Parts: sequence; C-alpha cells; structure tokens
Amino acid sequence: MARKLYIDEDECIGCGTCEEICPEVFKLNEKTEKAEVIDPAGSSEDKIEEAIEACPVECIHWEE
Ligand code: SF4
Repeated sequence: MARKLYIDEDECIGCGTCEEICPEVFKLNEKTEKAEVIDPAGSSEDKIEEAIEACPVECIHWEE
C-alpha cells in the first residue's frame, strides 16, 4: 500500500471531525486551525475512510 493520505488545507474548515473519529491519524493544528495527518498508519483503513466520508468539505484524500 503506497497510498498517501493528505488534507487540502485550503479547504479544511478546522471542524475537528476527522480528529474525533481518528485521533491517531488526524490532529488539528492549533496555530493554523487546520487538520494535519500525524500518522497515516495510525488506524485501520476503514476508520480513516469513515473520517474521509465524515469531513464536511471533503478535503481529505488518498493520493494514489
Ligand atoms: S473533518 Fe475535514 S474540515 Fe474538519 S478538520 Fe478534518 S479535514 Fe478539516
């Protein structure tokens, strides 16, 4: 699996939903108020997928 997880920070509204679902993988940067990927392998792919689907602005993506 060489997919890379990334967040389009221009789109992110800092709602914290991804961190709520998957705190091992996503974390809100308090300075920028944008989410960051802290550990793409920190959780199961299902859980990450759940966070991707829950993001209100759909700014979390897999980069193939
Ligand atoms: S769920 Fe989406 S908009 Fe909300 S903090 Fe995470 S990446 Fe940003």
